[in-house]
Amino acid sequence: MPEHAMPSRRDVLAAGVGLLAAGGLARAQSTPTGPSTPTAAPKGKAKNVIFMVADGMSMGTFTLADTAITRRTGRGSAWARLWDDPRARRSMMATRSLDSLVTDSAAAGSTWGCGRRINNGEINWHDGEEFEPILVSAHNAGKATGLVTTTRVTHATPASFIANVPDRNMEDEIARQILDRRVDVVLGGGAKYVTPELLAEHPDIRAVRTAEELFTSGKHEGRLVGVFSKGHMSYELDREAIEPHIKDMAMFAIDRLSQHPGGFVMQIEGGRVDHGGHANDFPASLHDMMAFDLTVGAVTQWASRRDDTLVIITTDHGNGNPDLTVYGERSLKGFETLLGAGHTLTWITERVQQGERDAWPTRLHDMIAEHAGVELSEDEVDWAMRPLRGDRVNGFDEANLFVCALGAVMANHFGVAYISHNHTSEHVEATACGPGAETLPTRIDNTFLHGLMTQALGLPVG
Ligand SMILES: [Zn+2]
Repeated sequence: MPEHAMPSRRDVLAAGVGLLAAGGLARAQSTPTGPSTPTAAPKGKAKNVIFMVADGMSMGTFTLADTAITRRTGRGSAWARLWDDPRARRSMMATRSLDSLVTDSAAAGSTWGCGRRINNGEINWHDGEEFEPILVSAHNAGKATGLVTTTRVTHATPASFIANVPDRNMEDEIARQILDRRVDVVLGGGAKYVTPELLAEHPDIRAVRTAEELFTSGKHEGRLVGVFSKGHMSYELDREAIEPHIKDMAMFAIDRLSQHPGGFVMQIEGGRVDHGGHANDFPASLHDMMAFDLTVGAVTQWASRRDDTLVIITTDHGNGNPDLTVYGERSLKGFETLLGAGHTLTWITERVQQGERDAWPTRLHDMIAEHAGVELSEDEVDWAMRPLRGDRVNGFDEANLFVCALGAVMANHFGVAYISHNHTSEHVEATACGPGAETLPTRIDNTFLHGLMTQALGLPVG
C-alpha cells in the first residue's frame, strides 16, 4: 500500500482475516495506518529532543482538562493553543501492541524507545532479543539524558526510554539499568527500587529526596537523582509540599540538561493521568492532566525561544474513555462539582478502608461529602459497596469492581462516566514542534515517533 494512501475496505477485511488466520496480531503490522519511518527527515537538525507523555489520556480527559483551563484562564490549554502555531504538526496515532489491540505502557513506550512493536509487558525486548533504547543511543552519541515522571521512575513509560527487560515488573533491574546507563537527571517516585544501597554504588550521583533539597541542590555538576516518594508520587490534587510539581521538575531538568554542550534527550511523563483512569477517579486524572498542561506550556515556551529543540507531546493509549455525558444544567452543575473536589476519590477510599469494615458505608458517605463536596444517597452508597460483597453492578464483567461502582454513582454528580477501568484502543493525538516536526504525517503508527526523533537528532539508525 503506498504511503499516505487510505486503506480500502478490501485491505481492512484482509487484515481482519489475517488476524484470525495467523492466530495472533503480528500480522496486523503489515497494515500500518501510515508510513512506518520518516521518509525525508532532515538529519541532525535537532540538538535536543523533549518527549512529553500524558499517560493513559483518553480524548475525554483532554477535553475536560481543556474546558477547565479555559474556564479558569479564558484561554485554552497550552497543548491545544500550540496547534495555532503554523510550525506545529499534528497526527492521529494508532497504539496497538504486537499481541494486543489494547496496548499497555511497556509495549507502547517501547515503540518510541526502540521503534519496534512488541508484546504487552515487554520493554525493548522480544523473544530473547534486545533493542537499543533511545536514551542509550543518545548517551553514546554524546548527549545528556533525562527522565522526569510522576510515577515510580522504574515504571513502564520512563523505563521504555532506557531499559531492556522481558517483564516491566522487574523494577529492581530497571533501577539498576537507569543508573548503570548513566541517565544524567532522574526525577520522580520510586525510592522503593532506587534504594540508598543502589545509589551508594554510584558515588558520583547527587541524590535528593524532597522538593526543597532539589531546588537548593545548587550548581552540582554530575548526575542527579531525585526520588520523592516510596512508590508513585501523589496525585496533583493530593500532593504535599515535600513533593515537587511536575512542571518544576521538568524545568529544573531542562535547565541542567541544556548546559550540556552536546545537547540532550529527555522524557517527561504525567504518569498518573492513567492511574486516575484505572481508578475511575476523574478528579485525579483532571488535575494531573492540568498539571501536565502547565508543563507543556513551560516547555514549549522554553523551546520556542530557540530553533534546536524538537518537542513531541502525546499519550501512549486511552484509559476508560471518560467524558461528561449528561445534558443542559446537569452538565454545567456536574462540571462545577467536579472542579470543587478537594481530594481524589482514591485518597478518600484509602482512608475509608482504614476503618472498621462495618463502618465503611457511613465513612464513605461522610468523607465523600467532606472532601468531594457530594452528598451520596443511601442507595448510591449501597450501590457503590456491592462489588465488595461479590454482587454484580454491571453487565460488563470488566466493570464489576468497587472503583467502577463508585465511579458510576459519582457520575450522577460529576456527569462524567467511564466505560471500564482498562486502557482503550482509541487512536490518540501526537503533536510535534521544532526541527524535524515538519516530517510528521497526519496519521501514524506509534513506532513512527522513534524514527522521527533519531533522524531529527542524526542518531545512527538501530
Ligand atoms: Zn495503565
